[in-house]
Amino acid sequence: MNGFMRELSIQYGRKRIEFQLMYSARKTLAIDVHPDLSVVVTAPNDTADSAVEEKVHKRAAWIVQQRRLFESYLPSIPPRQYVSGESHRYLGRQYRLRVRQGDDDNVKMSRGQINVTLANSRNRDRVRSLVQRWFREHAGIVFSQLFDEWSEKARRFGIEADSFQIRKMKTRWGSCTQGGTLLLNSELIAAPKMCIEYVIVHELCHLKEHNHGNEFFNLLKKLMPDWERRRERLNKCVVA
Ligand SMILES: [Zn+2]
Repeated sequence: MNGFMRELSIQYGRKRIEFQLMYSARKTLAIDVHPDLSVVVTAPNDTADSAVEEKVHKRAAWIVQQRRLFESYLPSIPPRQYVSGESHRYLGRQYRLRVRQGDDDNVKMSRGQINVTLANSRNRDRVRSLVQRWFREHAGIVFSQLFDEWSEKARRFGIEADSFQIRKMKTRWGSCTQGGTLLLNSELIAAPKMCIEYVIVHELCHLKEHNHGNEFFNLLKKLMPDWERRRERLNKCVVA
């Protein structure tokens, strides 16, 4: 490798894909997408730019997909049955659902279990609504504590966050609105706190830097130096 690196880009549909080009003594061209979403192309010495661009163009769909994985990988969530023995995750830990007959309807969490008591333990719709309500309430408490903490830190970097809302989202862990509102996926309560914090901080940074340019990552790094470790953990998260 001769250490010589250049910035090039190609147009792919409406997207502009920028990449760094390096040369090496290798025989084939390699394309890597890094966790900071940068694209590095290593080409055999003396490869013409046009040949490199053509190769990148051919792999463009894959590059876009890789970037999306790094950005906000949300695993598909299996349908839940809300029956005894089923496992549910809360703040990165697994809990087993235990449904029992009882006088009043309630949900309590203890020693690795979510204990649901209700008058008619066969009423699965009722179990579902009790459990979902419990998760929603706890998501509200946890997210609001973390949002307050991190939006306070973000203010020092000129980021003004208004509030957050909890949403059901199919593909993303979080997003934000132009008005300064963060939207957090309700399923995020399944992830460890360090990952929830990462999603919050990522979206807070978007309030100031909309795209994933260098400024965005500089800001993210200042606010949360270990963000990559957190995102890797998030990508490994299993929701149910
Ligand atoms: Zn983003």
